[in-house]
Amino acid sequence: MTQLRIPGPTPCPPEVLKAMAWPMIDHRGPEYKKIIFEVTDKLKQVFQTRNDVLILTCSGTGGLEAAVVNTLSPGDRVLSVSIGAFGDRWANIAREFGAEVVALDIEWGKAADPEAIRQAIMSNPDVSAVMVTHNETSTGVTNDLGTISKVVKESGKLLLVDAISSLSSIDLPVDDWHCDVVVSGSQKGWMVPPGLVMVSISTEAWEAHSKAKMPHFYWDFTKGKSFLEKGQNPWTPAVSVMFALSVSLEMMLKEGLPNIFARHARIGQMTREGIKALGLSLFAEESHASNTVTSVAAPEGLDIKKLRQILQDEHQVVLAGGQQRLDGKIFRIGHLGLVNEDDIKAVISALKVALPKAGFAGVKQ
Ligand SMILES: *Cc1c(COP(=O)(O)O)cnc(C)c1O
Repeated sequence: MTQLRIPGPTPCPPEVLKAMAWPMIDHRGPEYKKIIFEVTDKLKQVFQTRNDVLILTCSGTGGLEAAVVNTLSPGDRVLSVSIGAFGDRWANIAREFGAEVVALDIEWGKAADPEAIRQAIMSNPDVSAVMVTHNETSTGVTNDLGTISKVVKESGKLLLVDAISSLSSIDLPVDDWHCDVVVSGSQKGWMVPPGLVMVSISTEAWEAHSKAKMPHFYWDFTKGKSFLEKGQNPWTPAVSVMFALSVSLEMMLKEGLPNIFARHARIGQMTREGIKALGLSLFAEESHASNTVTSVAAPEGLDIKKLRQILQDEHQVVLAGGQQRLDGKIFRIGHLGLVNEDDIKAVISALKVALPKAGFAGVKQ
């Protein structure tokens, strides 16, 4: 069987895939109402929140756009803390809708220093919101969101969080950390196909929403909330993905959040150890290396494109390359959602054989 080890879409359990084949139902009928209520309740448990949680039909990027247009107005100054490609994308969305973005761009591979964020807020006291990526999938780095959230909330700013590749796999207590808007996506750690975004909205975020003037129609949180009260979405949802999510949430809560976080921590550690044992180096600073995606720096001589091709053709192992400026410089191993020790062992064994064929002579045996 293929080892799909990219940071999304991720493999799905057979039970989840079976749910994708359930017959269609009326998305404004009683069966859907039951599902959306149950799913929303379980989502709140995983988000560790009493805030509202809405389900949008889109990929992660749609959720990032929704967070921006529902809380900001054109001309608002916002602090974008970007540590990679997804942070940059979010800043660009805010710019596109007329926000004045103050960019705190951190060197790729490193996490954001909470003190630097404090300084940036002090130097720009008029920013209304701070945008932070919890887990930067392009570099394999996890920010210290617990500390960052303290800094941001002490300043009274709205905290918008991209938790697309972390929430469900890495601990993110939304209420304890006072995160105002938190976005996650079905195809990452949720063991569900692409198509749904889940977003939590705090009381402060609702206040900001009531004044937000950026254009929004499809993404409107007010419509989302009023339809949810009736057990519906404003627009036709990805019904099959909802079925899948209802099954995966049941599995996740059965495993238990602490166990899920511990499994990802264990697997992350095992992946990093395995990579280093092969004689390779991690791209991300190890103190903040992600437990959902490992980025590996290409050593001298290694052709990453060739490596990925060999892995796919000869070992049925699918890894991700680098994005944008990291293209050809790193490769990435996704280990989020449905993943165990054997999966990582298979990846490391395949790498051991494929690396020399792709130009890296220094593989340790
Ligand atoms: C996957 C991802 C996104 C959004 O990607 P989509 O392709 O739109 O689902 C955004 N941010 C992070 C951190 C991600 O991992």
